Amino acid sequence: MSETTVRYACAEHIDSVLDGIVDERGRAPDLILLKEGERAHGCHECGQPPLYRITLPET
Ligand SMILES: [Zn+2]
Repeated sequence: MSETTVRYACAEHIDSVLDGIVDERGRAPDLILLKEGERAHGCHECGQPPLYRITLPET
């Protein structure tokens, strides 16, 4: 079963959320800029409405 890591980040925490995934997984994830209405989840760090979705497919 393949599983994709998905996290959300606001503008302030994008760097630390990205670094966290790279540290854990050793690979750079994909970064998607969210539109209005796609911000249902909170930032991984602070819970505020996020600007980015970060995804990393399991291989
Ligand atoms: Zn944040």
